[in-house]
Amino acid sequence: MSNPSLLILPGDGIGPEVMSEVRKIIDWYGAKRGLTFDVTEDLVGGCAYDAHGTPLTDETMEKAQNVDAVLLGAVGGPKYDNLDFSVKPERGLLRLRKEMDLYANLRPAQCFDALADFSSLKADVVGGLDIMIIRELTSGVYFGEPRGIHKEGNERVGVNTQRYTESEIARVARSAFELARRRNNKVCSMEKANVMESGVLWRQVVTEVHAAEYADVELSHMYADAGAMQLTRWPKQFDVIVTDNLFGDLLSDLAAMLTGSLGMLPSASLGAPMANGRPKALYEPVHGSAPDIAGQGKANPIACILSFAMALRYSFDQGDEATRLEKAVETVLADGLRTADLMGPEGGAPVSTTQMGDAIVSALDASL
Ligand code: NAD
Repeated sequence: MSNPSLLILPGDGIGPEVMSEVRKIIDWYGAKRGLTFDVTEDLVGGCAYDAHGTPLTDETMEKAQNVDAVLLGAVGGPKYDNLDFSVKPERGLLRLRKEMDLYANLRPAQCFDALADFSSLKADVVGGLDIMIIRELTSGVYFGEPRGIHKEGNERVGVNTQRYTESEIARVARSAFELARRRNNKVCSMEKANVMESGVLWRQVVTEVHAAEYADVELSHMYADAGAMQLTRWPKQFDVIVTDNLFGDLLSDLAAMLTGSLGMLPSASLGAPMANGRPKALYEPVHGSAPDIAGQGKANPIACILSFAMALRYSFDQGDEATRLEKAVETVLADGLRTADLMGPEGGAPVSTTQMGDAIVSALDASL
């Protein structure tokens, strides 16, 4: 059987720096666990624009469609701020998401005990937190028509349309139920069925999919505004939350920040299963290219490393190895290693990007 394939797109700014640390981990899995990936590397974002005049070439897009998973660093930077909208670095990322039809965006909010004091909430509220927010990513109010700004009489009117089809709701609901089965078997669906027809349909379809295919999973419904309150009050009551594009945008950012630094947050965007049964998949840290610290060895590589852990779990069926990698990260943090973004007010000497990557590789060695 051929090795699983991985397309690596380091991108701009700190993207290449954090991705170098992921490459060490990938090499470790090949050398120590017999888990070898066919890795190809290519350009996306500003660096692709510099080389080819476009943030994503058709050839790279084609490669992304034909690998088992794509791992991306970050795109963008001040150098590209004045480019035409059509060739801005972010367009490369948006093209990947759109053409791969990645409709389920997975954003875990996981709090490592060693960083519980870092949260804006009390340590006992977030300590041990491990929840997953699934945001519908390709439809809803960010895409619905009609949209635009027009004149009505003497004033301008801004219009966006929240629109969901039954099948769009059903497929993301299935992603949530499938995921819940691999976790704690519990899904909470959030919308505003009290004031929005699209919310009424959302609730109906989620309930129907549940009854027909996933009755073994515990399902609850919550209005999204109440959900925001509950997420800050007692987030550990949730396991998997599924919601639409707009509410998911807000709720996933809120939940993510319960756990501390942007440098810690991974994500996955999944689409329909391919012929080999694996979902189309793009893994990337939540953070951007951090131009303020790029090239200084200060970036925290953990978000990108944890994104690779998600790839191990969701694309390569290596849940135990994903857990091994997450535990290695936990060990290193418990030992007190901190990149600059994780330094508390008490100060201390931060480690560099490469020192953090090396320490995680050593913790992987120690796990054998
Ligand atoms: P950012 O996430 O790049 O940075 C925000 C702050 O967090 C900065 O102070 C940065 O130093 C810090 N930070 C981010 N990641 C870090 C890490 N791994 N380790 C330590 N500190 C980290 O967001 P921004 O400053 O708003 O955007 C910068 C550029 O990135 C812009 O061009 C923006 O368009 C782009 N961007 C790209 C993505 C993406 O590629 N997915 C996402 C967001 C922003």
